[in-house]
Amino acid sequence: MTLTTRFAPSPTGPLHLGHAYSALLAHDLARAAGGRFLLRIEDIDHTRSRPEWEAQIHDDLRWLGISWDATPLRQSDRLARYHAVLDDLWARGWIYPCTCRRRDIQAAASAPQEGADPVFGPDGLIYPGTCRSRPRGPDAPLPDDCALRLDMGRVARDLGFDETGQTPRHVQVAAADLISGVGDIVLSRRDFPGSYHLSVVLDDADQGVTHVVRGADLFEATQIHVLLQQILGLPTPVYHHHRLIRDDSGKRLAKRDDARAIATYRADGATPGDIRAMVGLARV
Ligand code: GLU
Ligand code: ZN
Repeated sequence: MTLTTRFAPSPTGPLHLGHAYSALLAHDLARAAGGRFLLRIEDIDHTRSRPEWEAQIHDDLRWLGISWDATPLRQSDRLARYHAVLDDLWARGWIYPCTCRRRDIQAAASAPQEGADPVFGPDGLIYPGTCRSRPRGPDAPLPDDCALRLDMGRVARDLGFDETGQTPRHVQVAAADLISGVGDIVLSRRDFPGSYHLSVVLDDADQGVTHVVRGADLFEATQIHVLLQQILGLPTPVYHHHRLIRDDSGKRLAKRDDARAIATYRADGATPGDIRAMVGLARV
């Protein structure tokens, strides 16, 4: 299979040096291997995504010398795909509706009768299971006005993940670790069919991505993605987590840190080679 990498920014602000580093690494890897480099616009959060930012992303990447080998995939064009997978998971009884608000979850997770401190997994606070007994598929109709959670215990049982970590597929993960260490993650949000985790896994599979190059800040999320690939029967790409680009005070660059936006450096007369040097890559 052709080595395929991707860059998957969210059009919610300007690209900064950290994005440039990630995109250049993924692009250089594909070019050095004679492979493919793809672009994906992660505009799942339609309240924060803007077409102007998407246009600016294209412009900044081209200026950096980055070219992509297919029409960029836009998540907002893929709702039918996410819906179809959710329908399938619903029919299996693997997802259930959840109407909890963040503060309900916090309160339930730290309730005195639970005895222990709230537990955090790769997706934040482990969901305490408040809504797990709500009506679910295939008998109940799929609701479209609330979040949908993956019932990790049910999935572990149905797929035969056991306590020794032997699984029917190749990744070894113990059922207890899934249930207590990851919990019932959200696969669909109230206002959008899909979640970051579901869409990224389906998009990488559908785009034929073989190598994911992403920041070390997504290391925990990667655990969830590998797990979802197991559950959905999708291939697992090779993951490379790169170091994060920090400012002089050691703080990670945030998207609204306009001072470090690629566009700002461009306006100040920097060249693409200067940007490469700033993130520690050799000039080409
Ligand atoms: N779109 C996300 C971001 O901008 C994630 C990219 C990924 O999944 O690697 O950080
Ligand atoms: Zn709930």
